[in-house]
Amino acid sequence: MHINVKRLESVIKQVKEIANKKQLKTIPKIIAVSKTFSSDQITPLLDFGHIHFGENKVQEAESKWKDIKKKYNNVQLHMLGKLQTNKSKIAVNIFDYIHSLDNAKLALKISQFEKELNKKVKLFIQVNIGEEKQKSGILIKDLENFYDYCTNQLSLNIIGLMCIPPLNVDPKNYFSLVKKNSEMLHLKDLSMGMSSDFEEAILYGSTYLRLGSVIFGERSS
Ligand SMILES: *Cc1c(COP(=O)(O)O)cnc(C)c1O
Repeated sequence: MHINVKRLESVIKQVKEIANKKQLKTIPKIIAVSKTFSSDQITPLLDFGHIHFGENKVQEAESKWKDIKKKYNNVQLHMLGKLQTNKSKIAVNIFDYIHSLDNAKLALKISQFEKELNKKVKLFIQVNIGEEKQKSGILIKDLENFYDYCTNQLSLNIIGLMCIPPLNVDPKNYFSLVKKNSEMLHLKDLSMGMSSDFEEAILYGSTYLRLGSVIFGERSS
């Protein structure tokens, strides 16, 4: 068995154990974050039957996934990285989910291209939970207004909130704050938890875990 499949199986087991212990009704989905990895590292996971994959660059995702998606047509592709408005048309075209909706201009572009391409994308609003200058995302104080704009004015399909907590601090309080806000907006999904903190994220109600290195090994870039 391919090493990546072994590692995925072991994470699936871990996630299930935590979910069962917490008596969660739904087990969080695992997005295998395949950025920087080539299709020969991805194919074993596809053949194993894995469905959710994540990338953080539009160009890389397009060249890698266009053909794969034709062959494995149940694959669900997630955009996780910063999305420039000038790439939003390609993004709407190739991605099933976008986790990085972080400004009004991008929201407007996505809604326009959804109409043009006759396609609806599932969207997460990225929250800048640590109020960090170097990170993108909507600030908590602006979240309700932004959510209203996206849903009422643009009819976007916002399914949840996404966050990347600050590095090297306990993520608990951040996860908890994002969860609280998602409940206030009656949102169902939460995109939280990476290789280093996914166990904690499950305890705070994450429904989509974004896992790269625990499945693919360390990235060289
Ligand atoms: C790369 C990336 C991940 C996966 O990171 P790992 O630490 O390798 O699990 C998750 N989310 C985002 C937004 C990323 O860019």
